[in-house]
Amino acid sequence: MSKAIFPGSFDPFTLGHADIVERGLRLFDHLVIAVGYNEQKQGWMPVEERLEALKALYKDEPRISIESYTTLTVDFARMVGADAILRGIRSVKDYEYELQIADVNRQLAGIETVILFANPQLASISSSVVRELAYFGHDITPYCATKAQKPTNDI
Ligand code: ADP
Repeated sequence: MSKAIFPGSFDPFTLGHADIVERGLRLFDHLVIAVGYNEQKQGWMPVEERLEALKALYKDEPRISIESYTTLTVDFARMVGADAILRGIRSVKDYEYELQIADVNRQLAGIETVILFANPQLASISSSVVRELAYFGHDITPYCATKAQKPTNDI
């Protein structure tokens, strides 16, 4: 059985993220959506709410599990016995960043990163843009795949 983790902040989880998950399920038998967070930094949505919203979204999909982690991504990948790390890229900017991390992760743990190109129709969606829209009072539901709400006034 092949297993990958799809790590990210998912703050919030957008239609772009959901598209990568859907396509990732065609490549792997099992996907762990891994919500990485920093205990020192409060995110936009509390991590518990991100997890709860993701569990609700994928409750009928036994091939997906939802976890959170605070360690290095490769350590988490090893801990759950993943064969690969799944990531998405939207642009050249994402490419350079992902290339660097993928290279370090392969050196550190021998784990491969599988990159999917963003669906062009969803490539402009980013969690940070969604947070900014929310900050200025815009409806963000057209961009979010899970229930997302603004718990504080932070961007
Ligand atoms: P991180 O903080 O680790 O970059 P994100 O939650 O922003 O986490 O993104 C997780 C993954 O999803 C990254 O690989 C990112 O490039 C990818 N991603 C984000 N938005 C999109 C999108 N609209 N289409 C495809 N992939 C995306």
